Amino acid sequence: MTASRIIFLGPPGTGKGTQAGRMSQRFGLAALSSGEILRNEILSGSEVGKRAAEFVHAGLLVPDDLIIRMMLSVIGGLGEKPGFILDGFPRTQPQATALDKGLDEVHRPVQLVFDFRIDDSVIVERIVSRRICSKCQATYNVRFFPPKEAGVCDRCGGLVGQRADDQESVIRTRLETYRRQTATLVPYYEAAGNLRAIDASRPAQTIETEVADLIAAHKGE
Ligand code: AMP
Repeated sequence: MTASRIIFLGPPGTGKGTQAGRMSQRFGLAALSSGEILRNEILSGSEVGKRAAEFVHAGLLVPDDLIIRMMLSVIGGLGEKPGFILDGFPRTQPQATALDKGLDEVHRPVQLVFDFRIDDSVIVERIVSRRICSKCQATYNVRFFPPKEAGVCDRCGGLVGQRADDQESVIRTRLETYRRQTATLVPYYEAAGNLRAIDASRPAQTIETEVADLIAAHKGE
């Protein structure tokens, strides 16, 4: 049986989003990025977006109650879709506990948790050269994967620029936030027996093959 309820854990800039997109295509799973959903809420000026904006821009975590409600509602709304990859959620113990509870209620527990690991110095270097389309949120990297025309999205023609929270000072805060609030989830999922460590310093293609093999080889319900 292929795994279909998956979490991608790891600090920002480890390539989780890229791999979530690739696995979503390979296995037909919904790739749910909590950061992307929040950025869309902020762009749309919704109540959730208004509450979240100051936290996101400062590189701090938005309050648990807000993100839990938002993500459980998105997961619940998937309907007949075969499954999901959560990218960026959960990020705190209360979020992980609420997710487990929500999924247990529908007898669909998390099956695999991938922990993307990489050195902080590499992360900062990667993120400062990261760019994103302001319209469709496709991601680029000015050094490794620039858009064909500078500043223009290959996919939708939108404006490609830097995320406000991808500036170096904010990245440092995001990394500290990760170590302080999210890294504690590693032992939690390790104890549950479904954690797989991924060396995220390798080329994307190598990581893709490893992650896809682990998803495909998953045994059990
Ligand atoms: P990301 O795109 O995953 O790096 O997320 C961007 C920002 O969105 C984070 O720095 C947080 O401010 C916020 N965010 C995303 N996911 C969560 C979460 N699970 N809990 C709290 N805040 C989040």
